[in-house]
Amino acid sequence: MIPHEPMFDPQTFELTPQQVELTNLCRELGRTRFHERAFRYDREASFPTENYQDLFAHGLLGICVPQRYGGLGADYPTYMLAAAEIGRYCGATALTFNMHVCSCLWTGALADDLDMTPEQRAEHERRRAIHYERIVRHGRIYAQPFSEGGPAAAGAAAFQTTARKVPGGWIINGRKIFASLAGHADYYGVLCTELKEDGELRRRDTLYLAVPKDAAGLRVVGDWDPLGMRGTVSRNLLFDEVFVSDDEQLMPQGVYHQAATRWPHMFMTLTPAYMGLAQAAYDFTIAYLRGEVPGMPPVKRRMYPTKQLAVAQMKVMLEQTKALWFRAIHDARIDPGKDALMRAWAAQYTVMENANEIAQLAIRTCGGQAMLESFHLARIYRDSRCGSLMLPWTAEICLDRLGRAALYDEGERDD
Ligand SMILES: Cc1cc2nc3c(=O)[nH]c(=O)nc-3n(C[C@H](O)[C@H](O)[C@H](O)COP(=O)(O)OP(=O)(O)OC[C@H]3O[C@@H](n4cnc5c(N)ncnc54)[C@H](O)[C@@H]3O)c2cc1C
Repeated sequence: MIPHEPMFDPQTFELTPQQVELTNLCRELGRTRFHERAFRYDREASFPTENYQDLFAHGLLGICVPQRYGGLGADYPTYMLAAAEIGRYCGATALTFNMHVCSCLWTGALADDLDMTPEQRAEHERRRAIHYERIVRHGRIYAQPFSEGGPAAAGAAAFQTTARKVPGGWIINGRKIFASLAGHADYYGVLCTELKEDGELRRRDTLYLAVPKDAAGLRVVGDWDPLGMRGTVSRNLLFDEVFVSDDEQLMPQGVYHQAATRWPHMFMTLTPAYMGLAQAAYDFTIAYLRGEVPGMPPVKRRMYPTKQLAVAQMKVMLEQTKALWFRAIHDARIDPGKDALMRAWAAQYTVMENANEIAQLAIRTCGGQAMLESFHLARIYRDSRCGSLMLPWTAEICLDRLGRAALYDEGERDD
């Protein structure tokens, strides 16, 4: 039995008509297509190309492209709810979908909230129209490589990948690791640091540039054979004197840094993939204990008190996770207060850790046969382990920031 109930009941959670429509659409695609394909992508560590064709055919590549540019115009919570339904059936599709959607969300709804001069605003309008047309009309896919293996992805230093201004564009040099969609994206939305005359790299000079996949000097390197999220194909990128034109600037100079400091919920957009996996682990367990998993003899195991207790524990964790996450995604806005920011870190930590905890309980409760790779649970368990490693808000960093924020007011010191 493939689960088909909404993760968030429209009436109970007072979903908007668009949220109902898009969550239904994503759930239907997930249930009828992504669920079965997930085995192959996971086994082969191959990219979910067919799923992306379906996402494009249903307008979902433009889910966060404003309607006046031909997109669906979903706001932040609507995207998060829809993506969670995808994560339920294929974590790797939901995770990579996040990378793509960020290129629209950051340049769209987020950028509209940020301060720009009238000249910057006009320039941004013109450039994002180019970028949105590629996505909405031509189905182009954007990756989002920012990790470099150093402190930059955690927000602790400037990116070492650099962009040097030249007439008509930029020259990029550097290296990115774990670039999901590597070799499959049409554009790489690279975060890099603008090289200024004094040679110093500063976070406030971060640039967000789109690099076409066939740009001279760009190479995809390395293997991809990880524990989980195998369908993300997160290989490494090398940039050697890569030229991109001025129109590939996805945000005006200085605006990415403003977004990162004033719109922090932008870093929570990896959570839907794992919210979906948490739900999937629970759904699998219910079906398994009821003897309703296809491919298994219809043996019921639900009558044992230990199973009932474990499922109760899983349900408590799942409801706690969903409630906190749902609240946090509705807090998202420019300049959130300290309370909302702390709740965002708490929600990120809870989703990423609980998804794996619930999957782990699911394996223990269902037992040995359920762990075979011919069932979804093994993949859900492996995929869910990756959530708390995702920078900039890893589980450790969330705890670190929460502890400090709880005990110190802004600017407070002990000396
Ligand atoms: C499946 C998958 C897909 C990914 N896709 C992408 C992608 O598309 N784009 C992309 O840019 N990245 C992507 N990443 C990379 C990811 O976001 C991390 O950058 C990467 O996992 C970090 O590697 P690391 O743990 O070795 O980092 P390290 O920098 O070695 O950090 C190790 C741990 O130390 C802690 N730590 C690091 N810095 C600090 C700090 N300043 N303060 C406190 N604690 C700190 C963190 O908890 C971190 O987990 C992906 C990763 C995975 C697993």
